[in-house]
Amino acid sequence: MAPTKQPTGICKVHGYHGSAAPLATQLHHVWPLGMGGPDEDENLVEICPTGHVNIHTIIDNLIDGEPTPSAHHMENLIAKRGFDKWVEAGKPGKPE
Ligand SMILES: [Zn+2]
Ligand SMILES: [Zn+2]
Repeated sequence: MAPTKQPTGICKVHGYHGSAAPLATQLHHVWPLGMGGPDEDENLVEICPTGHVNIHTIIDNLIDGEPTPSAHHMENLIAKRGFDKWVEAGKPGKPE
């Protein structure tokens, strides 16, 4: 089923950013589409652009087997969840 989720402005990583930080949030596919993840509400999480970039960096690091020591706990959690689903599915959409 096509996703119906809409951004509310609350970042899953940092919570409400307030007026000083960018309010624009984005919907991230926990298990990324390019790695075979489904395009559905259950696979979406709302995060700010900064958290979004960080999560994709962490996923890339997990794929390459490199550590991401400075990452936010929630960023690590979301990235790890997507990475694990991708591994469970047999690593579709990306070469070893
Ligand atoms: Zn994303
Ligand atoms: Zn954020």
